[in-house]
Amino acid sequence: MITLRSYIGGRWVEGSGQRATLVNPSTEEPVAEAGTGGIDFRAAIDHARTVGVPGLRELTFRQRGDLLRALSRLIHAHRDELIAPAMQNGGNTRGDAKFDIDGASGTLAHYAEVGATIGDARVLTDGEGVQLGRSARFHGQHILTPRDGVAVHINAFNFPAWGLAEKLACALLAGVPVITKPATSTALTAYRIALLIIEAKILPEGALTFLAGATGDLLNHLTGQDVLAFTGSSDTGAWLRALPHLIGRSVHVNIEADSLNAAVLTLDAERGTPAYDLFITEVAREITQKAGQKCTAVRRIIVPAPFADAVQEDLAERLAAVKVGDPAHESATMGPLATAQQLRDVRAGIARLRAEADTVFGGDGAVTPLVLEGAAAGKGYFVGPVLLRCNKPDLASAVHSHEVFGPVATILPYDGESRSAAQLVRRGGGTLVVSIYGDDRERLTDLALAIAPYTGRIHLGSSKLAGQATPPGTVLPQMIHGGPGRAGGGEELGGLRGLAFYMQRTAIQGDKPIVEQLARPKG
Ligand code: NAP
Repeated sequence: MITLRSYIGGRWVEGSGQRATLVNPSTEEPVAEAGTGGIDFRAAIDHARTVGVPGLRELTFRQRGDLLRALSRLIHAHRDELIAPAMQNGGNTRGDAKFDIDGASGTLAHYAEVGATIGDARVLTDGEGVQLGRSARFHGQHILTPRDGVAVHINAFNFPAWGLAEKLACALLAGVPVITKPATSTALTAYRIALLIIEAKILPEGALTFLAGATGDLLNHLTGQDVLAFTGSSDTGAWLRALPHLIGRSVHVNIEADSLNAAVLTLDAERGTPAYDLFITEVAREITQKAGQKCTAVRRIIVPAPFADAVQEDLAERLAAVKVGDPAHESATMGPLATAQQLRDVRAGIARLRAEADTVFGGDGAVTPLVLEGAAAGKGYFVGPVLLRCNKPDLASAVHSHEVFGPVATILPYDGESRSAAQLVRRGGGTLVVSIYGDDRERLTDLALAIAPYTGRIHLGSSKLAGQATPPGTVLPQMIHGGPGRAGGGEELGGLRGLAFYMQRTAIQGDKPIVEQLARPKG
């Protein structure tokens, strides 16, 4: 069994004391251990500040973009060897693993292009310059410069590769060094990526610090020039947000948390229409991809009441074709949950939903998985896909408030009126993504605008989009990722928008030629 090390102050160090054990969720066998005991977090931050900050600051956006391109190519070149730890420690099928790893290299590649497009600048302008006085002389311009600190990234267990890379891409392009920490339980893939990056010597010294384990007293050393970007559960997010030290120092915090995402079918998209088929295909995929352990997975399936039986039948048919098992088994199409805690939480969550909804497929999720010959019986954190139906969704509570982070979703019939569907969506208290399927443009527009304040992203699944678009659960670097309320109130990515969190916006006012020189894109 290997011990994951942390990369701190320009060298790999092993934590001392108690370590967490990482397991294979299909077999429950240990695969690695990790811990950050004895690590000097203040020294880690000092190194990133004193060495990492100047190293990145002296580069232009184009040069930083070149670094990201090299990272993207590196990850892509090692794609096959990264799939193995994702299967072994994450319970990913090959498809799930590629989704995570390609998401990582794709996002880095996108931000490499953003850097190339900005070009040889070190300063970004924000909007047009404005005349401030009676004459044109007194002029104002907003600019963005990299914060003079470090970016601490805390990631969730479900996307060890993509989660690391999407945050890294924005921070490095903005010119801010990164201290990144994957969730310990599935850290093996992120660790392999960190090893590759450090071995390849692509980044300037101090630009990347990697923690394999808990953050210790790291957050106590952050200041108003530093940022904390967190992805994970609402509970941890709320706890971090309320840390007195972070509040006292006005540390910028971005939270990406839970979400009761919805897919809405509109009244014009009856069975047999291309929009209906697209809806069934995408919802079935969202329920089962990564065993439902995606922050963007569909949890609530909002359908016109007259279509509910058809939807139930068609989704059940798709789910019946899913083969749950050890991803190492060639026939398995859905792997286990990532951890024993996840299994406990998902089982408890299914029980909670069943108190107000009927299971129409999959019972309580108990399943006989496909495992390799010789595997120990009864091992693994497996759960089968579960489809529920709640005929009185406006009276229900848990289906709108309790995120079951597994292959579980609930059909919620509505009367076909856009306002009713919007009302159900809003009950989620803020989501990352809502998908709407149909072809009636007026209806799509009404519904989308009624929902927009309650979600970070809306995916319009009209029939012409079939075969032309990624599904709603795929986060694209061009579009923002995040959502209000329960989803954490944060925002990441969105092309150039993703850099703003890592930069200070400053209003410059003065003599026009001086202001313009200072803010010149090539400045
Ligand atoms: P979690 O238990 O909240 O853990 C998330 C991260 O926070 C892990 O790296 C964890 O480290 C760290 N952490 C936990 N307690 C901490 C503390 N006191 N101080 C500093 N760091 C701490 O969440 P999870 O189980 O990994 O992820 C599942 C949840 O994430 C789901 O609810 C899902 O919806 C959400 N999620 C949201 C998004 C999004 O973009 N909105 C994306 C993916 C997942 P350790 O592992 O070392 O404890």
